[in-house]
Amino acid sequence: MTAFQRIAVLGSTGSIGDSTLDVIARHPDRLGVYALSAHSRMEKLAEQALASAARVVVVPDADAAARFRQAWAQLRTQGTTPPEIRIGAQALADTAADPDCDTVMAAIVGAAGLPSALAAARSGKRVLLANKEALVAAGSLFMAAVRDHGAELLPIDSEHNAIFQCLPHGERASAPTRPAAGVRRLILTASGGPFRQHDPDALHAITPAQACKHPNWSMGRKISVDSATMANKGLEVIEAHWLFAMPADRIEVLIHPQSVVHSMVEYEDGSVLAQLGQPDMRTPIAYGLGFPDRLASGVGLLDLARCGRLDFEKPDLRRFPCLGLAFDALAAGQGACIALNAANEIAVDAFLRETVPYTCIPAVIAQTLEWHAGRPSVTLDSLDDVLAEDAAARARAEQVLAHSRVAATQSRGR
Ligand code: NAD
Ligand code: MG
Repeated sequence: MTAFQRIAVLGSTGSIGDSTLDVIARHPDRLGVYALSAHSRMEKLAEQALASAARVVVVPDADAAARFRQAWAQLRTQGTTPPEIRIGAQALADTAADPDCDTVMAAIVGAAGLPSALAAARSGKRVLLANKEALVAAGSLFMAAVRDHGAELLPIDSEHNAIFQCLPHGERASAPTRPAAGVRRLILTASGGPFRQHDPDALHAITPAQACKHPNWSMGRKISVDSATMANKGLEVIEAHWLFAMPADRIEVLIHPQSVVHSMVEYEDGSVLAQLGQPDMRTPIAYGLGFPDRLASGVGLLDLARCGRLDFEKPDLRRFPCLGLAFDALAAGQGACIALNAANEIAVDAFLRETVPYTCIPAVIAQTLEWHAGRPSVTLDSLDDVLAEDAAARARAEQVLAHSRVAATQSRGR
């Protein structure tokens, strides 16, 4: 794709959104912003819309639209045409499918990003997928949409982007139905997060600020907590399963604290191909925007002599129970993956609001998965099916959380 690309950046005010706008601004000859979206921080959205000359912004409700208009007016924008403001979740999906845009960066956090990512795939766009929760919740639906509508799917998550770069592929990215020929295993690397060597018995006292302080990557708060618990790597195992049609027993996770090797592909002949680079999301973003060309990303060069050494170790599932739970969910099927993701989103949100301790996160996921295992299986063939299952799992996870809060209060009262 060498023609000029008009891009919708969904979730533009987040960490991936920022990095995407940075890369786009470096290539005004081939990349331009069509639309931006955000759920909060309307001042930042207005600044981004002005700087990128976005034609459309999508905001959650009328109140946010008013805040956007106010912020726009305060930016001394006289003479500048304001962007069209679209409101609500349906507008988000419609914008992702808008014929005026070629490429959609799906960078909303959580399953909330699923309908718009799916709409982009169903309208045959180039889809840059950062939102891993969409694939975890609706992998088969999403990949079928990519195939059926001729969309071009480029993984942005750094591990999956690394694997994509190490796999044989043609000029067009698509959705495979079987593992690439000659590939034995995919090896996902993980930093191990801030608590890789933390005393497991002291984890209950972890604060949100500690959990969000990732040693190598600068990211949004939810994914930072996911990295600390390694739920993130669990979600990524499920993501890799769908993106590369790879069975779970051929996906391995290795802890690599330096975050220089972003992931690897092992071939039948014993070759292992890896993609290396600085831990900066602008590299996979530039790869997705430029594919099959390579674009400058603003990322500095990798100085291996300065790195000195690269370490690898197997993850300890007792220390990182969320990773084992994700493998369990993948083995159990799509409904269990929805339950895992929903429970994790609910538990992480409660932890970030400081209403439950850090150690509640794996407990809530495990109990929600147990509940799911006892439920009759349901069909998950449509977006509505998936959203209904997601809502049921969220309601259950909320109940589990409420019980654990009561238990914590009672034990403090004793
Ligand atoms: P973030 O929290 O920094 O940004 C999230 C964006 O989504 C914001 O623009 C926010 O306004 C919007 N948003 C939040 N809730 C929404 C809702 N209910 N409806 C619509 N919009 C909503 O998150 P991030 O770190 O940029 O991550 C975004 C996605 O990319 C996540 O799925 C994450 O797992 C994935 N990802 C991020 C990184 C990274 O380095 N940050 C790396 C790999 C994958
Ligand atoms: Mg990742």
